[in-house]
Amino acid sequence: MRNLQVNGERLWASLMELAQIGATAKGGVCRLAASDLDAQARRLFIGWCEAAGCTVTVDRIGNIFARRPGRNRELSPVMTGSHLDTQPTGGRFDGAYGVMAGLELLRTLNDLGYETEAPIEVVAWTNEEGARFSPAMVGSGAFTGVFELDQALATADNNAPDLTLGGELQRIGFAGPEPVGGRPVAAYFEAHIEQGPILEAADLPIGVVTGAQGQRWYEITVTGQEAHAGPTPMPRRRDALVGAARMIDAVNRLGHAHAPHACATVGFVQVSPNSRNTIPGRVFFTVDFRHPEDAVLTRMDRDLREACAAAAATQQLEVEVKEFWYFPPTPFETRLVAAVRDAARAQGYAHQDIISGAGHDAVYMARVAPTAMIFVPCVGGISHNEIEDAKPEDLTTTDGKI
Ligand SMILES: [Zn+2]
Repeated sequence: MRNLQVNGERLWASLMELAQIGATAKGGVCRLAASDLDAQARRLFIGWCEAAGCTVTVDRIGNIFARRPGRNRELSPVMTGSHLDTQPTGGRFDGAYGVMAGLELLRTLNDLGYETEAPIEVVAWTNEEGARFSPAMVGSGAFTGVFELDQALATADNNAPDLTLGGELQRIGFAGPEPVGGRPVAAYFEAHIEQGPILEAADLPIGVVTGAQGQRWYEITVTGQEAHAGPTPMPRRRDALVGAARMIDAVNRLGHAHAPHACATVGFVQVSPNSRNTIPGRVFFTVDFRHPEDAVLTRMDRDLREACAAAAATQQLEVEVKEFWYFPPTPFETRLVAAVRDAARAQGYAHQDIISGAGHDAVYMARVAPTAMIFVPCVGGISHNEIEDAKPEDLTTTDGKI
């Protein structure tokens, strides 16, 4: 396998042709899940796969599988791919790169007349972004049993509640006949742009993704007492915002205390009554904790509750800390991660281990199949933005070897 080389120019040309579908004036892409543009991109992908000799099937939630047979028909497929939908102001590479990289792999094997043992399938998952239909990663989530199929199909359009994902897939001709999931996958690899700054800063072409970090989200309500800002002496106040401010500071400190991997964010705060001459009686805010190790997330959970209780006590406040969402850390399969690392080493590519900060279809696939991911750098670490960019040489790993 050492002498196989992908055709980097062909890969880049396909990516650029795909990026025309939903192209925005600022150089990005707007191709929302189950829209007419999504259908157009899906048809282009299917056409390319059929031209490459693949059998293409579509399941009931619109996931597309392009299969290149292997020598041994008894073996489960090795699968690779990603998604074709984008954010409303998305870029040309998020998702599209993983699908086109899989297609280029098939084309390269065809060029060389190479027959693999196991079949290879390239997949395009439905609605990874969750921008039009929330939550995200619905196609892979249904495939892996995280979401009930009927529930997933009934998901409403965030801006047009009359439209459902299932109805829209039907309308664009991609509510396929195949059952969703329930079949073995020997291994799943997903190539993706990093969407962060680490590889570019270290000048490394390959990130060996060892897993995705876990997330704990909270909703916190702090209750004090509204009172007049003038006649109420300082010692008598039960100022919910002062308590919340101390809690928010504690959240940030917790993130720093578990450096370098912890992330701790308060991104939403509501103060009531939010009037300049009334002492705030109630504050609602959210917390988003992320870390690759569950044990650390558990410690952060305990520390958060303690910090909130302590801050509340200083102002005679009540505080309710409600866990809103929990997503456990997902370590990828050691054997597959090692295979990615060994391949990078064998080809002489500088690389480092990296943890995915974002969710990907691979995170759900890891529940049903051995899974690994390969990251490549993107310019400035910017993604979910029309200016998202990547260098052709980075997408084809420098000199086109695979
Ligand atoms: Zn993506």
